[in-house]
Amino acid sequence: ATAQDPYDLVVIGGGPGGYVAAIKAAQLGLKTACVEKRGSLGGTCLNVGCIPSKAMLNNSQIYHQALHDTKARGIEIGDVKLNLPVMLKAKDKSVKGLTSGVEYLFKKNKVDYIKGAASFASPTQLDVALLDGGNTQVEAKNILIATGSEVTPFPGIEIDEKQIVSSTGALDLQQVPEKMVVIGAGVIGLELGSVWSRLGANVEVVEFLGAIGGAGMDGEVSKNFQKILAKQGLKFNLNTKVLGASKKDGKVHLEVEGAKNGKKSTIEADVVLVAIGRRPYTEGLGLDKIGVEVDNRGRIVIDSQFNTSVPNVKCIGDVTFGPMLAHKAEEEGIAAVEYIHSGYGHVAYNVIPSVVYTHPEVAWVGKTEEDCKAEGIEYKVGNFPMVANSRAKTNNETDGFVKVLAEKNTDKILGAHIISNVAGEILAEAALAMEYGASAEDVARTCHAHPTVSEAVKEAFLMASSGKAINA
Ligand code: FAD
Ligand code: NAD
Repeated sequence: ATAQDPYDLVVIGGGPGGYVAAIKAAQLGLKTACVEKRGSLGGTCLNVGCIPSKAMLNNSQIYHQALHDTKARGIEIGDVKLNLPVMLKAKDKSVKGLTSGVEYLFKKNKVDYIKGAASFASPTQLDVALLDGGNTQVEAKNILIATGSEVTPFPGIEIDEKQIVSSTGALDLQQVPEKMVVIGAGVIGLELGSVWSRLGANVEVVEFLGAIGGAGMDGEVSKNFQKILAKQGLKFNLNTKVLGASKKDGKVHLEVEGAKNGKKSTIEADVVLVAIGRRPYTEGLGLDKIGVEVDNRGRIVIDSQFNTSVPNVKCIGDVTFGPMLAHKAEEEGIAAVEYIHSGYGHVAYNVIPSVVYTHPEVAWVGKTEEDCKAEGIEYKVGNFPMVANSRAKTNNETDGFVKVLAEKNTDKILGAHIISNVAGEILAEAALAMEYGASAEDVARTCHAHPTVSEAVKEAFLMASSGKAINA
């Protein structure tokens, strides 16, 4: 093929959805390019999302533990001091390592990496404004839109990324604020609120709804989680509406109102984190030029095979329907490419795990108890507390439990919900069991190594299938 030959596939956006799709396509023998305008691959996730937030969560937890949780373990540490510039550098280093790793994978798999912003000239042609200056046109038989999402702004509250920050600014604060107010008790608010709380900030969370955790968290889990975070020092104002913000004398004054009683008050903060969700990002793509349909929330409309309203233009990830998660975007990227290559692909949307990377972590997959009730499904519950798990007890990591749901008559697994310091890791077995159509008894009869936290998963499934656990 020469440079003038059209590509089999051009992917717009090098995030987890786009870069995984591009690599898979090249592996399947398609001539593939990926256009990315950020100047770095990996998208939101690697640059300003999953990865830097997990670096800060991990290191702030180590600092917190060094301060508060070593003496009883027989470890005496002298003066524990925070060196925030070094912690931020360590975060930047993990981002750089991973984003350049994706660039290496592109080379290895022969994906052409085009650095620039793409916009549609026609359904098979893209104009690319190159980052190094100038323009180029790229022709493709198939185009995959994977342009991701951006922060949902709060009307009337302007984000300056210093005092009023989005997640991006909150991942790069140059000093620990004395007082931080978080708007939104969703995943970002709880993760980044935890980071700064551990580093010494006084953190207060304002949430419009009556529960924390955002959409999809089981009600019982959410209540327990809130208690645990409150014990760690986070303060919650639920059922509270933010009316506006103003800056005065170096502080931000946040005006709030009780959603139920209408009572107004003002909260003063050094830093305000706006974390009320993300919205699809399609700016400058030129969708109207080729007539790609978008819904009333800005999401690109697709069918079950990732086709947009324009032939040969597919779409995946945050910019279309479904949960805004990196692994969901990746699964869709693979499936969309398989549709192009072989006419068949699949994503199991009922088995997409969610993890909140606080300490302890909260992780779940499948239906919540509320879902089962709403759908009229008869279900059984298996519940096993971490305090009864030998490993959790040995490690003094006893916050949390495993709660599983199975269909009453068939014992088929419906969902799993875990609070534990290793919840995100041990959830994978529940996801695998669901993907394979296992019953609760199947997991209960699988030999789990002792002593491991995963035995709590086995015990919860044992309780769901037989009514009783052994160790609780
Ligand atoms: P994105 O990652 O947003 O990538 C899209 C890319 O397209 C961007 O790099 C953008 O520059 C590029 N682009 C856009 N328009 C154009 C154009 N016209 N031309 C060229 N390039 C373009 N998810 C998890 O699963 N786990 C987590 O722990 C997690 N933590 C997160 C923490 C934070 C603080 C945030 C903000 C998000 C987090 N997420 C997490 C969500 C996750 O980042 C997203 O779901 C994921 O990045 C979506 O992938 P994507 O490929 O659809 O889009
Ligand atoms: P979110 O949807 O998880 O939570 C937003 C919260 O803000 C909700 O609880 C909502 O009720 C509340 N809210 C909305 N409007 C409000 C208002 N006016 N006043 C007060 N509260 C208000 O969104 P997020 O935390 O911003 O995260 C964005 C996306 O990024 C999510 O879709 C999430 O999936 C993804 N993400 C995932 C992870 C992870 O997987 N660990 C981590 C971070 C982000």
